[in-house]
Amino acid sequence: MKRFFAILFVFVSAMMLIAQPKNIVVIMGDGMGYNHLLLSELLAEINNLEIATNKFQVASLVRNETIDNIVTDSAAAATAFFCGQKTKLGCLGIDKDQIPINSIATILKEEGYKIGLITNTKFSDATPAAMYAHAFRDDKKKILEDLIETDFLDFFVAGGLEDLGVNPFTLKPTSKSPLKKLNENGYKIYGINYEPLFDGPNDKFMAFVSLGHKSFENQLIAGEPTYLEIIEKTISKINLEEPLFLFIECGRIDHASHINDEKALKAELIMFQKIVNYITRVFPSEDTLFIIFADHETGGLSLMSSPTKSEDISIKWNTTDHTATYVPFLTFGNSKDSFPKLMHLMDVKEYLLEILEIKIPEGVH
Ligand SMILES: [Zn+2]
Repeated sequence: MKRFFAILFVFVSAMMLIAQPKNIVVIMGDGMGYNHLLLSELLAEINNLEIATNKFQVASLVRNETIDNIVTDSAAAATAFFCGQKTKLGCLGIDKDQIPINSIATILKEEGYKIGLITNTKFSDATPAAMYAHAFRDDKKKILEDLIETDFLDFFVAGGLEDLGVNPFTLKPTSKSPLKKLNENGYKIYGINYEPLFDGPNDKFMAFVSLGHKSFENQLIAGEPTYLEIIEKTISKINLEEPLFLFIECGRIDHASHINDEKALKAELIMFQKIVNYITRVFPSEDTLFIIFADHETGGLSLMSSPTKSEDISIKWNTTDHTATYVPFLTFGNSKDSFPKLMHLMDVKEYLLEILEIKIPEGVH
């Protein structure tokens, strides 16, 4: 009988191991409201691409208001997502009283996960910065200091070479470039097109792939890789055997919406579908929880009467700012049903930790 229970125990344990996702892969569309998402699906269809988001389900209706405003910004929204707390506008990894709060990435790092972040915005933009910095979004000096101090990131891909002391003409780092400090901190450093700037270990790297933000996909400069090519290159450099928390930001959707640039937005939304398609093929869905979400909506985008499958879907903007609306939160793969039907962005961290059966000691946030 004892033996039976021992076998049963091993069997149940094995089932539990399988039940838990090995990888958490998050793809975030900055500023991507439900109408942006619909537009991306329609554009994929018209362009004979796979509608990659169709394999996802709407897991939850998600609110995103801050402590001080019904309309959030990328700083407060990303802080809610990463750190599990509602904060004030402009706050990165700090609560309303400016006390630093812990990103889920640091908790997962301690649990043995590899941590990676890829964005097509500058390294200091609010979304990537919320993962590693404890600062106000305009305090670029502190954000850079926090990036230099960061030790939990295994790989980090972003733009912003010019702010990192790289000559925009020669593309070579100046003698005072902060890239040196990042290198001394144990990171191999790559520049535009992934050419090595400072040598280091192959499994711990930072790549800065554009001078500022990456160009909109319809405005790539000669020789500039697409965002998908950057992501493919990054994936080729990481060991997929190890548990991974990967956060990919499609940050230019927000920027195109702020300037109401229809062509740039459509190009970014087509790229979004291509990235989702690629990423969901790289990782097996049996042991990967995929999440697609948006931090907020930008532009008050409406889709107007257009013939079905028209090349030219008519859109209207309502504002050049963010708006208050429920944001998409879609899941696919392992543990996709583990979220409540209604939540706030700040609840995601808690549910992720529950899915992964990670308990954080009391008093630690
Ligand atoms: Zn924005």
